[in-house]
Amino acid sequence: MTAMVEIRDVHKSFGAHEVLHGVDLTVPGGSVTVVLGPSGSGKSTLLRAINHLEKVDRGTITVDGELIGYRRVGDRLNELGERHILRQRARIGFVFQSFNLFPHLTALDNVAEAPVATGRRGRADARAYARTLLGRVGLADRADAYPRQLSGGQQQRVAIARALALDPALILFDEPTSALDPELVGEVLDVLRALAAAGTTMIVVTHEIGFAREVADTVVFLDAGRIVEQGPPEQVLDHPRHERTKAFLSKVL
Ligand code: ADP
Ligand code: MG
Repeated sequence: MTAMVEIRDVHKSFGAHEVLHGVDLTVPGGSVTVVLGPSGSGKSTLLRAINHLEKVDRGTITVDGELIGYRRVGDRLNELGERHILRQRARIGFVFQSFNLFPHLTALDNVAEAPVATGRRGRADARAYARTLLGRVGLADRADAYPRQLSGGQQQRVAIARALALDPALILFDEPTSALDPELVGEVLDVLRALAAAGTTMIVVTHEIGFAREVADTVVFLDAGRIVEQGPPEQVLDHPRHERTKAFLSKVL
């Protein structure tokens, strides 16, 4: 498998506070990487850096062979213009904890919006594709509902369909089930499972250890801005080598 994402020596500070201290990570195409770590360890910052919502201070991120956010000019990196950045971002789906659907649009139009706005599809084509995607997340019958008429689990599934609408090379999930009532977590994890089975490259920040065990190819444990440990789930979850990983797992398991 060739690498879909290559993160090399990424550093990120907010003011004097360095939040990522040199992160290296390779994500093969078609694989699922689950990122675990305590609150404040830099998980969201790392995901946001991958689509240049946060600018890194040092290091590089490549997605599908393209350097994110910058262009190499000699031995310097010049930041790309807004248009290029938006084009790169369109290739990377992002699903947030808080769904972030447009409240004034139906489920169908939430999913159809980006392909229309980016000129990728005409309105009729985008809406037809949105219907297909809503079917994939089990919501074919709720296409005309507004977000407020949907449960949290349904809203998150619409958000996943929306993330698929531009046929991304990669999808990032930032705690996609953390805002859900416990009985709604399963339906969202089922959709992630189906995406994984279909070969979607995903990076998933989650505390759902059962999901990680079952679905992840690689589990990464991030602590205080460093990858402390990474490997197959049976290694990191069942035979952690580092005290910090053990301490974290003893709290969430
Ligand atoms: P996690 O997702 O693992 O909980 P985050 O990546 O959200 O961690 O945050 C890592 C650290 O960076 C935290 O200390 C947080 O307060 C800080 N941080 C995140 N975003 C910002 C920001 N925009 N400005 C200042 N500090 C931030
Ligand atoms: Mg976070």
